[in-house]
Amino acid sequence: MFQRRVGSSEAAAVIKADAYGLGARRVALALADEGVRTFFVATLGEAIAAREALGDAHAIYVLNGPEEADIGHFTARRLFPVLNDPRQIALWIAAGAPVAAALHVDTGMNRLGLALADVAAARTALATVDVPLVMSHLACSGTPDHALNALQAARFADVAALFPGARKSLAATAGIFLGRAFHYDLVRPGIGLYGDNDLPAPADDLRVAATLEAPILQMRTLAAGETVGYGATFTAQSPITTATIALGYADGYLRSAAGRGYGVLAGELCPVLGRISMDLITLDVTAAGDAARPGACVEMLGPNVPLKQLAAAAGTNSYEVLTSLGRVTRRYRSVP
Ligand SMILES: *Cc1c(COP(=O)(O)O)cnc(C)c1O
Repeated sequence: MFQRRVGSSEAAAVIKADAYGLGARRVALALADEGVRTFFVATLGEAIAAREALGDAHAIYVLNGPEEADIGHFTARRLFPVLNDPRQIALWIAAGAPVAAALHVDTGMNRLGLALADVAAARTALATVDVPLVMSHLACSGTPDHALNALQAARFADVAALFPGARKSLAATAGIFLGRAFHYDLVRPGIGLYGDNDLPAPADDLRVAATLEAPILQMRTLAAGETVGYGATFTAQSPITTATIALGYADGYLRSAAGRGYGVLAGELCPVLGRISMDLITLDVTAAGDAARPGACVEMLGPNVPLKQLAAAAGTNSYEVLTSLGRVTRRYRSVP
């Protein structure tokens, strides 16, 4: 999908944090099958796992960069560090720059990456080092009108001109939607592969990547005035049918979604009632009628419960919703 959108640029894939909680090994293999050649992870441990899953053909970049003790691992597995500051650059050069490395320049996020003031010195220091990729990261691409986007783009254009031999990369998911000028040679989508565009608009043009379902364990009929769960924070105003499902915050369903989250059963909205427990959530399944019965599975995330909406209900973003998923059984299926 992203490869079609970015034309002649290369669509790489970010699979850090266990592919945003979905399972890096299976996700990496599926993406490699789709033709992805370049992967980004955050840590060396993630890179080693990705190399084991993928075999030797793909480029794997480690965003956090190298530490002295790690250099043997980068060399042995041909993993490419992203160099983020003069310390990492010096470390890499002292180690003989055994494999290729990317250079990350911070153009305005003030998080990770080489400060603009250090770019000239870095270019000199790296003159004989294999640096096939120069990258930066946008702080506000999820807010397309934000002035920082144009400022970072202008700064990145200046930096890019200093490294004519390297490929350039600026855009993550939302940056891809900012248009061609942001695509450069390689784009780095993460969340877009997992179902959200990281923009205020709905992600309808992206495929749903993950569905979370939980079975009903038990049902009850509550009379008006009865309460649900710890702290009795929900009180039925009229008679309702409730169902308790086998899902809780220990599975990664965020506790902060209490009172706002919902499931969908038989096409009907089933609001979360009261507090979310460690292993259990109680839903109002009155609207679902006969479809609500023990053993029936309620969709808590998926085509009918958009990732963005669950994130809003939990007061967070789609990234945290996915990376929080823990004790759930993951099943993978291929889609044409
Ligand atoms: C996480 C990350 C990405 C992917 O961002 P998404 O918003 O998930 O597409 C790309 N580049 C860098 C440097 C990152 O840290």
